[in-house]
Amino acid sequence: MKDQSDSGGKPILITIDGPAGAGKTTVSRMLSDRLGYKYIDTGALYRGVAREAEKAGISHDDDAGLEMLCGSLRFEFVHDTDGLHLFSNGTDINGEIRTPEISMLASAVSARPVVRKYLLSLQRELGKEKKAVFEGRDMGTVVFPGADIKFYLNASVRTRAIRRYKELSDKRDSPAIEEIERDIRCRDENDSTRTLAPLKPAEDAIRIDSTDLDAESVVNLMLSHVQKHIMQ
Ligand code: C5P
Repeated sequence: MKDQSDSGGKPILITIDGPAGAGKTTVSRMLSDRLGYKYIDTGALYRGVAREAEKAGISHDDDAGLEMLCGSLRFEFVHDTDGLHLFSNGTDINGEIRTPEISMLASAVSARPVVRKYLLSLQRELGKEKKAVFEGRDMGTVVFPGADIKFYLNASVRTRAIRRYKELSDKRDSPAIEEIERDIRCRDENDSTRTLAPLKPAEDAIRIDSTDLDAESVVNLMLSHVQKHIMQ
């Protein structure tokens, strides 16, 4: 599909929420490319806070320590030819935030109000000009309740674990599928039962189950909703 933003359509903000491994990152990237929009991976921000907390020796439940840490952080996204890179205080930390340890730690720090408050304003600032696809857990419910189009992407736990396994299997020491599935169940439980901004579909979200769909089919389905919205 042609760049919608140059086709006379109004600039819109799109959110994609859903659990770990549902395919959000792949489809968010593809969708934003097709629309000529920017793509923001908000999970990377939580991972960034987790990485910085670990480096500074701050525990995931030390609210005072986390608050001080957040006050000193300067995150920036840079779109490179090989994708989106998160920089923290000038350093590219993309390679370091994708480990299973940081995944679990990100899930833990994401339940702390001080961290969510800090990232809420940062995310809203990044979305000010619209023309963006925001991927996360609470994009449509909390961060951008007024988003133009909200998607909620899900898939079976087994399918999500297999996808993660394939992503990790070219790296050394990749965990077994059973271990990944356990981690996914644990993160699902943490993310959906926390009091603050729990993972759940917004009431007005368009729900898509990607268990039996490839990324291209999901993106085409999303684009048909975008097209409909832009034409309204
Ligand atoms: O999406 P990703 O797996 O990279 O996110 C890492 C963790 O960050 C999630 O398990 C979740 O706990 C947290 N997160 C969140 N809200 C978001 C994005 C991510 O709580 N909007």
